[in-house]
Amino acid sequence: MKEINVISNICTNIPKQKVTEEPDSLAISTRQLVIQNGLDYLEGTGADLICELCISKGGSCCNGCDKLIEGVGCQSRNTSCTSWLCGFLKYLLYEAGLHQEWNSFWNQVPGKNYRMDNTPSLFVVRKMLKVQNLRFLSEALVADLKKIAANHPSKDYIITIREEIDRNLIHLRVWKNHPEKILLAQRNIQILTMEFHQFQKAITEYRKTVRQKYNNKSLIE
Ligand code: SF4
Ligand code: SF4
Repeated sequence: MKEINVISNICTNIPKQKVTEEPDSLAISTRQLVIQNGLDYLEGTGADLICELCISKGGSCCNGCDKLIEGVGCQSRNTSCTSWLCGFLKYLLYEAGLHQEWNSFWNQVPGKNYRMDNTPSLFVVRKMLKVQNLRFLSEALVADLKKIAANHPSKDYIITIREEIDRNLIHLRVWKNHPEKILLAQRNIQILTMEFHQFQKAITEYRKTVRQKYNNKSLIE
């Protein structure tokens, strides 16, 4: 679950630790440090805002888990659940061009499992995640989703959208050597997200800023 827990950290007894980025150099990390880095990163993307809406529509990914205490949160924060992304969060990172970075980071972490982990206390990592402030993207996405939900009679309509986006994003990865399937998945994602007007505006602005930063950096170098 990435919901309210991310904001309040009430779900975990893990103390906050400072995360420093170590680009492409081998370093020892701890299980707790990667979990905290992941949580900080998600908080930076505003994941909690999306989770809040999702939970209100009955879509929590923690439903049925015995580690969840109602009104308190997750009692067993682990690398597996922290690394896992649902369709909404995956889509946000995918559109922001950060999905690969997220996956590469968690690929370094051994022992992930379903709703638990066997991650060792200490292990080697090459890179940590750099936390950014992308909450405006989540704010825009939530605004779109609220509007869509209000215009649709079925309570869990946006959860269906989430699942379909997820399915198609998985197809992009699984069928990467099949151009016609990739095209189909991309087309499906476009259709599923065609009412994400505020999000599209926000992501366009974000990409423009990233491009500008990149161009300025190239000029300096
Ligand atoms: S262990 Fe259970 S309650 Fe905790 S984040 Fe995972 S699914 Fe949610
Ligand atoms: S399914 Fe996604 S949006 Fe919903 S609570 Fe889980 S992480 Fe949050």
